[in-house]
Amino acid sequence: MAELADVGKTYGSVEALRGATLAVRTGELVAIVGPSGSGKSTMLNMVGTLDRPTTGTVRIAGHDISRLTDRQLSALRASAIGFVFQSFHLAGGVPVLDNVADGLLYSGIARRERRRLARAALERVGLEHRLAHRPHELSGGERQRVAIARAVAGDPMLLLADEPTGNLDSQAGAGVMALLRELHEAGTTVVIITHDRDIAASLPRQIEMLDGRVIAC
Ligand code: ADP
Repeated sequence: MAELADVGKTYGSVEALRGATLAVRTGELVAIVGPSGSGKSTMLNMVGTLDRPTTGTVRIAGHDISRLTDRQLSALRASAIGFVFQSFHLAGGVPVLDNVADGLLYSGIARRERRRLARAALERVGLEHRLAHRPHELSGGERQRVAIARAVAGDPMLLLADEPTGNLDSQAGAGVMALLRELHEAGTTVVIITHDRDIAASLPRQIEMLDGRVIAC
């Protein structure tokens, strides 16, 4: 699903990734762990095709991303990859149903179908009774479930989550983790960045990073 070969990424003089090599196979559930500044988010940006490597090769679903145009890369991202962030990234003041449906704006799917898929995704995360609520009317755990619904509404092969429980209390965090596991069991490949050692240890595989390098995987 995702293959990094000797990937380096520099921002000015900062080497965020150095010689990172790893493969995530279809159907895996993986944690990326490591201290702050070790390159976890940069790694996720590579796997998510949000950024291109400075050196080395990144292949996603068989495509060498340095050979794709920006337009092809956006299309791959829109059809194959879902993102979840620590701070939810929902549009404020916009009803939950539209927040999720708008995640499909660039998918080429017609409006009516976008809303049908959004409703189905919200049912999947247990929020079918909150369609008209605004994000500020929801708890943190509910907001993250909306964000997960948005990430999976288009049925991506790959779901990438950057500290998805970082802003949640332990109970809401456990609910979000249970949901991510369910999505994995239903066939989605899931990669989760986490600081939480217990969460990482509870996942089948851990990729450990330090100083921009993969030190165990
Ligand atoms: P982590 O997610 O493990 O905290 P990051 O991947 O965010 O680590 O960052 C790795 C290193 O790269 C850090 O030293 C960070 O300051 C630097 N870095 C990340 N993104 C940028 C950027 N856009 N511009 C400059 N430096 C960056």
